[in-house]
This record gives sequence, structure tokens and C-alpha cells, in this order.
Amino acid sequence: MRNLAILGSTGSIGTQTLDIVSKNNDLKVISLAAYGNIELLEKQIRQYMPKLACVYSEEKAAKLKENISDLDVKVVSGMDGLIEAASMDEADIVVTAIVGMIGIRPTMAAIKAGKDIALANKETLVTAGHIIIPAAKEYNVNILPVDSEHSAIFQCLNGERKADVDKILLTASGGPFRGKTRADLENVTVEAALKHPNWAMGRKITIDSATLVNKGLEVIEAKWLFDVDFEDIDVVVQPQSLIHSMVQFKDGGIMAQLGTPDMRLPIQYAIYYPERRYLDGDRVDFSKLVGITFEKPDTDTFEGLKLAYEAGKCGGSTPTVFNAANELAVAMFLDKKIRFLDIYEIIKESMNNIKHIDNPSIEQILDVEKETYEFIRSRWN
Ligand code: NDP
Repeated sequence: MRNLAILGSTGSIGTQTLDIVSKNNDLKVISLAAYGNIELLEKQIRQYMPKLACVYSEEKAAKLKENISDLDVKVVSGMDGLIEAASMDEADIVVTAIVGMIGIRPTMAAIKAGKDIALANKETLVTAGHIIIPAAKEYNVNILPVDSEHSAIFQCLNGERKADVDKILLTASGGPFRGKTRADLENVTVEAALKHPNWAMGRKITIDSATLVNKGLEVIEAKWLFDVDFEDIDVVVQPQSLIHSMVQFKDGGIMAQLGTPDMRLPIQYAIYYPERRYLDGDRVDFSKLVGITFEKPDTDTFEGLKLAYEAGKCGGSTPTVFNAANELAVAMFLDKKIRFLDIYEIIKESMNNIKHIDNPSIEQILDVEKETYEFIRSRWN
């Protein structure tokens, strides 16, 4: 039996994780956490009967407590509650499917409690990779990637020697606006940006895919997960999303991982690693494939990727500024307060104006996040 804590259980990754729990008879849910969607969380609690549920919003947590007073499930809230959900004694593995930098503290708490991490919450590694990766080594816990690209790389590296790796080839679909010019992007709507061609995901990551910021976050995530230099990570656009990523070795050989776009595969692989379990769903039928095509990413139009390389190479607190500026800009875009291209302007302005710190602590990272938000709010109101 494997015991799971699922942070962000009501989201896209969280609900797909619970689907995997339902389809296997040796997974048990110990804790669930969400921000405020207590209707869905209650359904999940009644179905999976965890010991503890965390609702970040205090008010909603009180309401949930009332609604499930017939059950023996502890309800907690806020950051303390999230940390408790992440470090339950009984849990073996914590699925970090929260969106945003709010995931840093609970992920650290889980590591310190000796839990393996099935990591979807890339913002945590992007901003605090220099703390998270050494901590995982110190506490002897595995960080198992859930992001499909990183799971693909992880699978390609199975049984290989790190010294033999030449470069990582991170694939990208190109998002809904692939092929568009800057002029085309001037007035694109939120609805159009939310239409990803291949993947059904949460709203924030879907916008990040449209700006290519997501691919940039993934480049930084790959640097931390696989200990590679930015010069050795290339992004290749592969619009059909069949090749989930590749690794090139020093003899020129390339390993790729392919499959239909289904996030349940990387989630399940992380939970059961190194075992592979049966997974229902479509299989790739090569006889019906129209083709697999490749392109170079257009980083002049989709500046998110270029800015991420810049932030990653600069290191220290700059990836935090990049990420925090993007998190707020995406929220503003989703609220229809700014235009699509303003997301890049906000990231650039923030990166140019917020003071750099070389080796920030978690407290400093969270301060930089706050400072970035204040800076943006003072300019964009
Ligand atoms: P969603 O927006 O679909 O879900 C986010 C989840 O986090 C929800 O359950 C939400 O709760 C919860 N949440 C948000 N803030 C808090 C908080 N403060 N405390 C507790 N819970 C919180 O996101 P996704 O599932 O799409 O993405 C999750 C992470 O996984 C992101 O980092 C994303 O980049 C990454 N990822 C996602 C992929 C995908 O296919 N979706 C693919 C690869 C990576 P509530 O519902 O109550 O608001």
C-alpha cells in the first residue's frame, strides 16, 4: 500500500491523481488540500476518506468543517494547515499539485518529514531549486517529476550515466498561438489563449503555454532536476505533442519518450516509480499518424522563453522575480485587466528593476515575491 498526500487535489493534476487512486487498489489517500473549492473537496473526502483535509481559505475551511461534521476527518487551514497536510506521518509520497510559489513551504516541510515528492508544482523548483534539491539529498528523498517533459527525460535517463549526457531536448507544442506574429497577438482574448491545442490543464499553466513562459519555467526546472547547464538544454517545437522530450548522448544517440498526451501517465509513473502499471486510454497508432514535425521556437515573438533563459542564467533571486511577475501578470490577464503582450512587459520591467540577491533563503524568496507584486501594482494599478 502506498499512502498519498495530495496538495491541490481539486485541480487538473489533483483530480487526475485521484483517478489513478480509483483505478488501483494499493493507493490510499492520507490528506487532501485545496484553496477554496469545498464543494469538490467534500466529494473527494467522502469518496477517499483521508485523515486530514486542508482548505487554505479560513472561511471556507470553517464551512467545510460544518458540512462534514458527520465524518472523522480533521479540517485545517492556511499555511500551517498546508504544512500539516504535506507532512503527515502516514504519507509515503506527496503529490505537489498546487499552482504557484505557495508550494515552496509545504514542499520543504514534506522533504524534512522524509516524504518522496511527486512534483508538479514547477514554480517551487524554479524559485527555490537551490534549496529544494540539496534538501532532498540531505533527507534522502526522491523528487519524481510529474511534468510530462521532465518525466520523459527522467524515463530516457533510466539506466544511463549522467556523464554520457550531451544535451536535453525539451519539446514544446508551441501553444495556441504558434505561427502568429507580434501584431497578431496585440488583441488576443483570454478565451483564445485558454484554448490549448493538445492538453487540458489549469488556467494559469494554459496561459503560460501560450506565452512560452511555461517552457521557460520548464527549462529552469530541468536544470535543477537533472543538474545540467542552460547551454545544454534546447527547446524543440513538436506541435503534435507526441514526443514528450528527448535526451541526446555524447555518441549522438537520442532517446525519446512518446505517448498520447495524457498527464495520468507521468503522474502514475511518479507514484509507482520504478514500476510501470497498466493505464487505460488511447495508444499511439503509427499507421494513422499524419506526421511528427519539428520547428525552432519563435523567441522574438514569444519572449517568455528568452526571458526565462536570461533569468535562469542570472540565477539567485532573478528566477523568483521572473516567476512572481508572471504569476501576477497572468492573473491580471485572466481578469482582463491587461493585454496578452503586457505579460512580457511586466516580466521585463520587474526583472530590470528588482534588486538581485545571490543566494536567497526561503524568507528572502518570499520577500522578493512580495516586492515584485508591489512593484507591479504601483505601476499597473
Ligand atoms: P489548477 O489550477 O487546475 O489547480 C490548482 C490546485 O491548487 C487546485 O486544487 C487549487 O485549489 C489548489 N490551490 C491553489 N492555491 C492553493 C493554496 N494556497 N492552498 C491549497 N491549495 C491551493 O492547476 P494545475 O493542476 O493545472 O497545475 C498545478 C501545478 O502543476 C502547477 O504548478 C502547474 O504548472 C503544474 N503542471 C500542471 C500540468 C497540467 O496538465 N495541468 C502539467 C504539468 C505541470 P482550488 O481548486 O480550491 O482553487
